[in-house]
Amino acid sequence: MTRDDALALDAADPLAPLREQFALPDGVIYLDGNSLGVLPKATAARVQHVLTEEWGRDLIRSWNTAGWITLAQRIGDKIARLVGAGAGELVVADSTSVNLFKVLSAALHIAAADAPARKVILSERSNFPTDLYIAESLARERGFELVLCEADEIAARLDGGIAVLMLTHVNYRTGRMHDMAAVTAAAHAAGALTVWDLAHSAGAVPVDLTGANADFAIGCGYKYLNGGPGAPAFVWAHPRHAERFWQPLAGWMGHAAPFEFTPGYRPAPGIARYLCGTPAVLSMAALECGVDSVLAAEAYGGMAALRRKSLALSKLFADEVAARCPQLALASPTDDAVRGSQVCFAHPEIAYPVVQALIARQVIGDFRAPDILRFGFTPLYLRFVDAFDAALHVQQVLDSGEWRRPEFNRRHAVT
Ligand SMILES: *Cc1c(COP(=O)(O)O)cnc(C)c1O
Repeated sequence: MTRDDALALDAADPLAPLREQFALPDGVIYLDGNSLGVLPKATAARVQHVLTEEWGRDLIRSWNTAGWITLAQRIGDKIARLVGAGAGELVVADSTSVNLFKVLSAALHIAAADAPARKVILSERSNFPTDLYIAESLARERGFELVLCEADEIAARLDGGIAVLMLTHVNYRTGRMHDMAAVTAAAHAAGALTVWDLAHSAGAVPVDLTGANADFAIGCGYKYLNGGPGAPAFVWAHPRHAERFWQPLAGWMGHAAPFEFTPGYRPAPGIARYLCGTPAVLSMAALECGVDSVLAAEAYGGMAALRRKSLALSKLFADEVAARCPQLALASPTDDAVRGSQVCFAHPEIAYPVVQALIARQVIGDFRAPDILRFGFTPLYLRFVDAFDAALHVQQVLDSGEWRRPEFNRRHAVT
C-alpha cells in the first residue's frame, strides 16, 4: 500500500464526517482511544452549561429541573443501544471495578441459592488485573475460589463446579475477542452464570447482550465511549436476574424511595438497585456527550459500519508494521472475527522506549507490561492515512535507533 492508497480510502470513507465531532490536537495521531477517548467538541460547552446554569444559577433545583436525578437511567438507555440491552435495563454509576463487585456479588448469590455445590469463579489468566483483584477478594469473602485458565482452556474447564464464568469480552493486551454468544451458551450448558466486562467493547465492536443471553455485564465510560478521564461506568443485569438479590452496596440511590428517608432498605425495582450514592453530575454530563459522539454513527450505518472501518484500519496498520518492522511480533489475532478494535505488537526488550519515542513524534499508543506496544483504532476519528503514517513512524523509530535516547527509557508512573 502507498500513502496515496490510504488517502483514497479516506476519500471514499462514508464515516469520515464523524471526525469533525472531535477536538483532536493538530498533528496528533491518536491510537489510544482504547485507554482514554478523545474530547468531543460538544463536551466543553455542555459541561460549562451544567456549571454555570444548572449548578451556578439553578442550584439544588436542577436535580428536578435539569433531570440530574435520572441521568443514570437516561445515559444508561443510550449506552444500552450500543450493547444490545433493552431500555431500562442498564444504568451508569461508579467505576468499572465497583460495578464488577456488584454484579459478581449478585451472581454469587444466585449461584449459592440455585447451585450451592458450585464454588468456583472461572476467569482468564490474562484478564485485566482489577477484574481479577475484585474477584479474588470477593471469592475469599464469600467462600468461593477464583480459578484462572487460558482462553483456549475455558470450554474444557466448564464443569459442575463452576458458579460464574467472568470474562472480559476483548482482551486489553492482545485485542483477542471472545464469541460472547457461544461462550455464554457453553457456560449455561454447564450450569454457570456469565459476567462480561465490556471495557474494550462498548462503542468499539458490536455487542448483543440480549441476543447472547448473557447474565451480567459492566463497562467503562472513558475508553471508546469518550466520556473523559475517570468517567462513570455502566452496569447491566439480564431482567431475569435484576431483582433476585440486592447488590451489596445498598446505597440510597438504589432504594425504592430514597426521598422518603426511611430507615430500612427496600431495593428499587429493576436495574436501579445497582445504583449506590449520588451521581457525579459534571462527569455524567461529559459522558453523555461522549456517548452521543458514538451514537452519531447511527446515521452512517451504526456499529456495523464502525466495525467495518475499525477492522480495515487495524488490518492496514498490522500489515504495514509487519512488512516494515520484522523485529516486532504481532500479538493480536489476524482473523477479523476474533480481533477487537486494537492491534498489539510484542518485543521482549524495547517495547517501552519505542512507544515513548512514538509519543514524542505525536503518535500516541501505549505500553502494557511486560512487552506489549498497544495501538487502539477508533473509527470515529481515525483516518486511513493516520494508520499508514503511524506504521511509517514505527519503522522510522526502529530503523533510526531513536528509541535508545535516555528520555525514552525512563519509566513514568502511567505507561
Ligand atoms: C479499563 C478497564 C477497567 C477499568 O476499571 P476502573 O474501575 O475504571 O479503573 C476494568 N476492567 C477492564 C477489563 C478494563 O479494560
